[in-house]
Amino acid sequence: MLRASRLLAWSGLLCVSVTLNGSAQPASRASGSGAAPPSLAKALAAVNAPAIRAHMTFLADDLLEGRATGTRGYDLAARYVAAQLAMLGLQPAGDDGSYYQAVPLLESTLDEGTLTIHPKSGAARPLQVRDDFLMGGDLLRTSARVEAPLVFAGYGVSAPELQHDDYAGRDVRGKVVVVLSNAPGRFPSEQRAHHASRRRKAELAAANGAVGVIVVRTREEEQVTPWTRMIANVETPAVAWLTRAGAPADVPEGLQGAAVLSAAGAAKLFDGSPIALDAVLAEAEKGAPKGFDLPAAVTLTSRSTHRRVTSANVVARLAGADAALRDTAVVYSAHLDHIGIGTAVKGDTINNGAFDNALGVAALLETARALAGLPERPARSIVFTFVTAEEKGLVGSGYFAANLPAAVGRPIANVNMDMPLLLFPIATVVAFGAEHSTLGDVAARAATQAGLTLIPDPMPEQTLFVRSDQYSFVRHGVPAVFLVPGFTSSDPKADGPARFHEFLTTHYHQPSDDLSLPLDLGAVEQFTRANIAMGYLIATSVDAPRWRPDSFFGKTFGTSR
Ligand SMILES: [Zn+2]
Repeated sequence: MLRASRLLAWSGLLCVSVTLNGSAQPASRASGSGAAPPSLAKALAAVNAPAIRAHMTFLADDLLEGRATGTRGYDLAARYVAAQLAMLGLQPAGDDGSYYQAVPLLESTLDEGTLTIHPKSGAARPLQVRDDFLMGGDLLRTSARVEAPLVFAGYGVSAPELQHDDYAGRDVRGKVVVVLSNAPGRFPSEQRAHHASRRRKAELAAANGAVGVIVVRTREEEQVTPWTRMIANVETPAVAWLTRAGAPADVPEGLQGAAVLSAAGAAKLFDGSPIALDAVLAEAEKGAPKGFDLPAAVTLTSRSTHRRVTSANVVARLAGADAALRDTAVVYSAHLDHIGIGTAVKGDTINNGAFDNALGVAALLETARALAGLPERPARSIVFTFVTAEEKGLVGSGYFAANLPAAVGRPIANVNMDMPLLLFPIATVVAFGAEHSTLGDVAARAATQAGLTLIPDPMPEQTLFVRSDQYSFVRHGVPAVFLVPGFTSSDPKADGPARFHEFLTTHYHQPSDDLSLPLDLGAVEQFTRANIAMGYLIATSVDAPRWRPDSFFGKTFGTSR
């Protein structure tokens, strides 16, 4: 699972104060039960939870050193997965008849960054790195310098569909825009996350002619993600995949500097502002502050070291039985990378990523085994994708969706598996993205087949739909769904919400996300069955999944493929 503060690197919306709602409410479209078709029933019965635990045990071993993209530990994990896929007799669907799709990556590490304020009157004022501001590596240049006037542009969001445009009537050409983190609180959660993302804000600032972006964190965010936690997040290397022309993908060219400010840094930047910072931040809590020119200019400089790395997605295919539909594919995805070796916590430096996402990979391998063993193959093809660099910002899946290997065919749906917290017996499942396409109906049926109840998103503020690899498919117009277990336990003694909360606050992206955590095999079995049923039902359906006509994501991306 991608850290929210990585996705929003400038806005750091990490969740600690999650309200955990443990109650199960049936989803509005949760209909369609009945017995499984005999073929599916056979695949569901085949699920072997101890086999899933065995895959997880290998992948989360210390010897794999946390499977960071570009490391030997990741490559070993990729070899393991490819060997399993070969044992299942699945068709290689990567480059040149192999199971591997090589992803060319650029990694940029910041060596030095400076930010200096030039007030209209008075001396230049250099800000202190870490105390006042943070910068990431520049993916376009090893050395950058930009000096320009400052303009405050609210949240830096253009959302005409929600009657909000911070750039309307504001000339930011040749200027450095100062924007608040996140997006207006009145936006629906998934749309809010989309508009709040770093990528979206950078695109917009560049499209409006800005030459740099400085992010000021809202009070909400200061509370949710303490500045100290931002430091490690922002200072890990920036990563992008490279186009055939050798350019980093999804990095707008016009921006020559970017930084995020601490509360202290923001106070210095707003010194002498016609509207005080306090008033701006207070307004942000109620609605959306209007933009204005700040009476200062700024100089941003950076020096970065670039390194080219190749890391592989692992891809296999179960060919469809129907000659007319075989070219269409249900694409499963699970990220194989994690965050590798880091700072010692209680003497442990290895981030094993047992739940994030050795478990998702393990469950997908078992899903592949169950579907490969069907007595009759489904009409459509099924593709199993194990992607790299998810933790770097959905980079491996982004490359995959933009550079589909020929053997994959045309993706009609994505089913993603990431960090299922199968810590206790489960009763419910959440399908992120369900309301955006007809996959919501499929998810309700799949949940029933697994003996689970589909419930609506109990924590919309976590914006999980845009925080894992399904979002790369959505951005390419492919309807997607991402199943995660709900908080409710079928065991009255297990406090599901407390166990979730404990994982997110104590073990998430820490060395303690390891094999010592409890794994409930019954939950593993049910969760895997729900995912098998998803793929089976889509692959055997005559109708391809469709976006709902009113879906924001359908309207925004639905025509792009
Ligand atoms: Zn993660």
